[in-house]
Amino acid sequence: MTEKTKCLIIGSGPAGYTAAIYTSRADIKPILYEGIQPGGQLTITTEIENFPGYPEGISGPAMMEDLKKQAARFGADIRWGSITDVDLSQRPFTAKTDDGKTIMADTIIIATGASAKWLGIPSETKFGGYGVSACATCDGFFYKGKEVAVVGGGDTACEEAVYLAHLCKKVYLIHRRDELRATKVMQDKVFRTANIEVIWNNLPTEIVGTEEGFNKAVTGVLLKNTLTGEEKKIDIDGIFIAIGHKPNSDLFKGKLELHPEGYIKTIPGSTKTSVEGVFAAGDIQDLYFRQAITAAGSGCMAAIEAERYICSLE
Ligand code: FAD
Ligand code: NAP
Repeated sequence: MTEKTKCLIIGSGPAGYTAAIYTSRADIKPILYEGIQPGGQLTITTEIENFPGYPEGISGPAMMEDLKKQAARFGADIRWGSITDVDLSQRPFTAKTDDGKTIMADTIIIATGASAKWLGIPSETKFGGYGVSACATCDGFFYKGKEVAVVGGGDTACEEAVYLAHLCKKVYLIHRRDELRATKVMQDKVFRTANIEVIWNNLPTEIVGTEEGFNKAVTGVLLKNTLTGEEKKIDIDGIFIAIGHKPNSDLFKGKLELHPEGYIKTIPGSTKTSVEGVFAAGDIQDLYFRQAITAAGSGCMAAIEAERYICSLE
């Protein structure tokens, strides 16, 4: 079955839904595919306190439900399902869905996000949102005056450790090697911060905590020395996994220009990609900020740019 739309939006995080709100209010009647994580990354976190408009904070899933309702209110056609292939070589573009449809689209807004990489230990999932986080800017506030750990040795881990050191009593930076991958300037910041202790050559093997009904809390992490195999436990209230992000751009490899890290290249100050009529918004094109509000902002930009492009075709 083949359908035609002026605008196909791929992804249902803050970028995708914001693009849907703007394009549907502009009467473009977009079709949005939610993908395997309807609502995006914020659906795996508990409290959001830094998205403007919620003075008391809001749970991630509830906020994403609000964004979805707002997009639906203006008529966005929001669908369960994923895009499995795209042809961007000719206009209208075509996209295949996982239920066998072909969508022909004058414009495509890609908002497929980036996923934090995880260690892959079961206790990480168990305490996800209850002491295990992948975003210090998002969740650091909850650990004011407490002791936390950051895992990783890159710029993200160092930046998160320094950020957390301003809020927390003590920050352990746990790295699997004996030197940091981070840039010299970030390393210097870490070494200059008195309440950061680097634990070299160690990897977390288990996150431990308490569990009473739905209430869970992290109390420590078990570590294994990568050289000697020696095991130890440190007491912490929270752990931040900062071992990198993976942009969800596999669909677009060889079809759009990507950064070496896999993020989609956009023209600075715009959401335009290397193919005219294809726009990218949110974490999928953001190597630096990766916040809900910046994703929503670029979703708005993509919608306005898509609308102008559609007008230019008419
Ligand atoms: P995402 O939210 O990543 O959504 C991507 C969407 O694309 C998903 O809906 C997915 O299903 C869809 N998708 C992917 N591939 C396909 C496909 N092939 N077909 C169709 N759909 C597809 N930021 C804050 O500002 N404040 C916070 O408190 C905060 N807390 C966070 C807590 C955690 C645990 C994490 C992981 C992140 C947090 N962030 C926070 C960051 C924030 O979640 C992201 O910056 C934001 O969600 C990015 O939005 P996005 O729309 O670009 O993509
Ligand atoms: P990164 O540079 O890929 O670093 C990831 C770190 O996590 C590495 O130290 C790596 O260890 C470690 N790691 C990876 N997998 C692991 C695992 N399974 N278990 C334990 N440790 C693991 O990622 P990033 O720090 O997110 O940075 C990504 C890019 O963004 C970089 O180009 C960076 O410069 C940039 N960035 C810049 C800034 C800034 O300029 N302020 C801030 C953040 C990010 P190894 O070192 O042993 O491989």
